[in-house]
Amino acid sequence: MWEKHRSIVARVAVATLLPLAVLAACDREPTTGPPNATGFPEFSVRKKGLGADVGGVLVTMNQRLEALDFNVRVISAEWLTDAGSGHHAQAVVADDRNVELGHHWVAGDVRRAAAANSITYLVDAGDGAANPDVTGGQTEAAIDRAVATWSGVPCVSLGIVKLPDTGADPDIVDGLLGFGDVGDPFLADITHAGWMPAAFFDALLVGGSEYVLSVTFSFIFLDPATDHDINGDGKLDTAFREIYYNNNLTWGIDADANPFDVETVALHETGHGLSQGHFGRVVRTDADGMLHLDPLAVMNAALARQLHSLQGTDRAGHCSIWHGWPND
Ligand SMILES: [Zn+2]
Repeated sequence: MWEKHRSIVARVAVATLLPLAVLAACDREPTTGPPNATGFPEFSVRKKGLGADVGGVLVTMNQRLEALDFNVRVISAEWLTDAGSGHHAQAVVADDRNVELGHHWVAGDVRRAAAANSITYLVDAGDGAANPDVTGGQTEAAIDRAVATWSGVPCVSLGIVKLPDTGADPDIVDGLLGFGDVGDPFLADITHAGWMPAAFFDALLVGGSEYVLSVTFSFIFLDPATDHDINGDGKLDTAFREIYYNNNLTWGIDADANPFDVETVALHETGHGLSQGHFGRVVRTDADGMLHLDPLAVMNAALARQLHSLQGTDRAGHCSIWHGWPND
C-alpha cells in the first residue's frame, strides 16, 4: 500500500524577498497571514495540495514567539511525504527547481549556537525511539550516518560537529504547538528532535499523520535594520532548525518503505538542515496511480525507496550552497 507517494510542499517566505522566479515557476496558491507588530514582514504562504493548513500553524507559532519575546521567527516548514492513497487531483504534483532555501547560516554568527564556522547538530536521545521496534540508539546511529554522508561531499570545507545530548530540552516547536515544553533551541544549530505522535502531524496538515514522514522547521533571527540579513548574502539569517519524525508510521533500520528507513529520511532532512530545498518533479501517472520522481534525488519531496547515497543534483546543490563557506 505504500508504493504510492504524495507530496505537498509549503513554504513561508518573506514576501519582499521572494524571488520572482519562484512566483513564476509554480502554481501554488498564495495566502496572506496577519501582519506582525514587530515589523516582521507579512507572510506569503505558498502551498499546494489538499488540506494544507500549515501556514496558519506557522503564523500561530510566530505569535507565540513574539509573546515569549524570542528574537526569532519560523520562516519555513519543509516536509517529506509518502501516502497509501491517491489524494491528488493534479497530474504534476510537484516540480521543484529552486535547490537553495531562501535562508542560510551565517558563518561565525555570534547569535548562533556554535558562533563559529562549523554547523552543529544534536540528536534528542530522550525522544529517539521510533515505534516499539526501533531503539533510540539505532535511530541516532542512522542519523549520524546520514550526517556523515553530507560531510563527505568533497567540494565543501564545512565542519559538521555533533554535540552531546545533555538531557536539557533542545527544541521549541513541540512546545509552541502544545505538545511539550518550550526548551532552549540554541543548544545546537540543527536538532533532530525525535519522533512525535499522530496528533502533532495532524495539527500541521489534515490527515498528515498518515502521509507526512518528517518535517524540518527553519527559524531566522530578527534584525529589521538589515532586513534580517546581516551579512548581505541575500538570504535570511538562519537561527536554528528543528527536525521531527512521524511516529504514527512504521520505521526500520536499513529498511525501504513501510517500514520507512530512518537513514534515508534523516539524509533528506539533514539536507534541509544544510539549507537545501526540494528538487525534482513528482509526477503521478494516471495509468497506475503511482508517483514517479525525476530525477531521483535525496531531496525529492516524496520518498520512493531506500537511498543512502547522494545523487548528482544533491551534491551539486550542496556544493552550490556551501562552496564559498565561510568567506561568502
Ligand atoms: Zn523535504
